Amino acid sequence: MRQMQRKGIYITAATVFGLVVAGFVLNAFRVRRDEGVALSSAVSPVYWADRFAGKDYFNPDRRIFYRGNRERKTVALTIDDGPYPLSCQKLLKTLKDKNVTASFFLVGKQVDGNPDLVRMIDADKHEICNHTYDHVRLDKLSREKVFDQIHACDVAVQNAIGKKMTLFRPPGMRFSNTVIDVLKQKGEVMVHWGIGAKDFVGTVPDYELTPELRKLPKTTPKRIIDYVTKQLKPGMIILLHDNPITAEALGPMIDAVRAQGYEFESCADMMKNLPNPVYVDVNPIAVNLVADGR
Ligand SMILES: [Zn+2]
Repeated sequence: MRQMQRKGIYITAATVFGLVVAGFVLNAFRVRRDEGVALSSAVSPVYWADRFAGKDYFNPDRRIFYRGNRERKTVALTIDDGPYPLSCQKLLKTLKDKNVTASFFLVGKQVDGNPDLVRMIDADKHEICNHTYDHVRLDKLSREKVFDQIHACDVAVQNAIGKKMTLFRPPGMRFSNTVIDVLKQKGEVMVHWGIGAKDFVGTVPDYELTPELRKLPKTTPKRIIDYVTKQLKPGMIILLHDNPITAEALGPMIDAVRAQGYEFESCADMMKNLPNPVYVDVNPIAVNLVADGR
């Protein structure tokens, strides 16, 4: 009798355990489908602990902004690698016509070569953000080189518009703890992205692409719009690049995103609208010229 009771307890415990595991796995697939979270994250207890603490939105220890509020049907538009003379003005005109504020992650040497374009971006009240001076991968560089890359871009932008930057994105999203340390020291925030439009495939040299990306078809306006609209989820940050094909795609892409019921908001507004709001002054006026703080 006692043996049967014990057996019953084991069976119940195993069933409960099985149901919990099945529920966890099913939930992981749902989160991947509905929220665009990678399955490797969705099955990880560490991810859920961070998410419970709101760190999947903004991690205050590492100062990384990952995405906007899951409860708001908004997306942010980020445009990297400019300003590029052949496309920047067309991008700006479309953004103005469509009344969208974007975040431009600028490359310092492009800034030095095209300060007028930076002034135009600033005049249209877009967010101006740091994307290093030479667009180099930072993850293997020494602290000194990382600092120089970020600092030189700061100086270039300050020379162009007299303002500082508080948002930063590393090229190729490659970074190390050294990069995090330098950004913390400078009081900057790293901005991740969630939707890639792969709009650089065929527009940048092959050596800049991973083997997987090299296999993809060359970007076209239609492909850009498809990549973006198929991956739309509330709170996503869209990654585009300053190039002529993207400039052609931008207007119809904005319309297609809005047709699905989404609105655009800047990165700063997205951070302000998180469950635990984060306030950043994206481009404060530079009172003093940036000092060498290494
Ligand atoms: Zn880039």
